[in-house]
Amino acid sequence: MARPERERAESAARQAAAQLTAQDVHGVALTFVDNAGVTRVKAVPTSRLAHAARWGVGASPSFDVFLVDDSSVTSRHIGGPDGDLRLFPDLDRLTVLAAQPGWAWAPADRYEQDGRPYAACQRLFARRMVEAAEARGLRLSMGFETEWVVARADAPGPGPRYAGAGPAYGMARVVELSDYLRDVLEALAAQDVAVLQIHPEFTPGQFEVSVAAADPVGAADLAVLVRETIRAVSARHGLDALFGPVVEPGGVGNGAHLHLSLWRDERNLCGGGTGPHGMTQECEAFLSGVLGELPALLAVGVPSPAGYLRLEPSRWAGAFQCWGLENREAALRFITGAPDDPRAANAEVKCFDPAANPYLVTGAVIAAGLAGMDERRTLPPPVAGDPATTGGSPRLPSSLAEAVEHFARSVPLRAALGDPLFEAILAVRKGEVKLFDGVAPADVAAATRGRY
Ligand code: GLU
Ligand code: MG
Repeated sequence: MARPERERAESAARQAAAQLTAQDVHGVALTFVDNAGVTRVKAVPTSRLAHAARWGVGASPSFDVFLVDDSSVTSRHIGGPDGDLRLFPDLDRLTVLAAQPGWAWAPADRYEQDGRPYAACQRLFARRMVEAAEARGLRLSMGFETEWVVARADAPGPGPRYAGAGPAYGMARVVELSDYLRDVLEALAAQDVAVLQIHPEFTPGQFEVSVAAADPVGAADLAVLVRETIRAVSARHGLDALFGPVVEPGGVGNGAHLHLSLWRDERNLCGGGTGPHGMTQECEAFLSGVLGELPALLAVGVPSPAGYLRLEPSRWAGAFQCWGLENREAALRFITGAPDDPRAANAEVKCFDPAANPYLVTGAVIAAGLAGMDERRTLPPPVAGDPATTGGSPRLPSSLAEAVEHFARSVPLRAALGDPLFEAILAVRKGEVKLFDGVAPADVAAATRGRY
């Protein structure tokens, strides 16, 4: 990063730190998300924030080849004990953490020690894809849904004991966990997170929060912030928040659905057009690019073997490579919204789960969509009903190994990610395939449900 930019950041950080100190905030957590989907952190005392903004904070590049169990692999460009990077906080996103008194948070971008952008920084990758869209006059608006399962932290025995065991989508669960859910809402509101909805989900102890759409990097930042806030509130209530794709195999798991809309100037291209269900030709081509690339995108959005225990037909997880209007079994659900609201139309990629790095997801989806636009692709006919029973739709990969084969061959994803990041992701995926090879589904779930 250029020196004047860093000097400006330093002086902004000095002012921010003074305000934080006045608010009794003593530590700032600087996070990034690794390729396995784990949020890693370096924290600084508030008094060092200005220094961090000017010089960055040291961190090993080897985190990019860590697996979910903290073991590591190596890749063509990244791995091993050598080298160091600098983490720079994005001060525009600096947030006082309501459920962690005395703490603030900022997402970090990673640079080489000589100031060059680090080629495998996932957040910088997402930003590059935003810029690639901008170069065509396009803007993406995105939002992640957060699903999680709440369990009693001190429960005896091996399995989780669910908190809020009332019926699916039942008010009983909201009553049972009334104080907890209020505290989640209160903490998010205090952090200026615009919550749209909170509700009990299907699986025992499961809830979902959805937040207002943002720019793609902002949406990924929010996914991190929302999750860590829920985790912190849960801990204060003696609860564990489980964000793994499956808590127990055989049931409905946690998704991390991505909503997106495509804009040119102030016009939402997902509506008001002459294409299917009112989408414009540009939106259709973008969504067709995403749909066509889904088998490879799964290696980004469903990155753990555990995710394939979730991504099963007839669980609203979107296990088929098809799209449909408001179809919750299609991997790509199109939503027109109220007919008199031109801003509401959007698409939801349902197949992704919370093990995914949200920066990789936003960036890779944009890359696939832009490739679809380049090829002026069109969508196949929409699918109504459950493809598991109606037939005719291709099944998405049913294992990580299968998704990895598609990913390894993906021309648009390799080009967009660049070799160092692409190869690191590939190595991590292969590493997790091996890690869980032959492991019983219940043990895969147990080893991953509390890791993300
Ligand atoms: N929990 C489901 C999943 O695994 C999604 C349920 C919903 O449609 O919100 O993706
Ligand atoms: Mg849901």
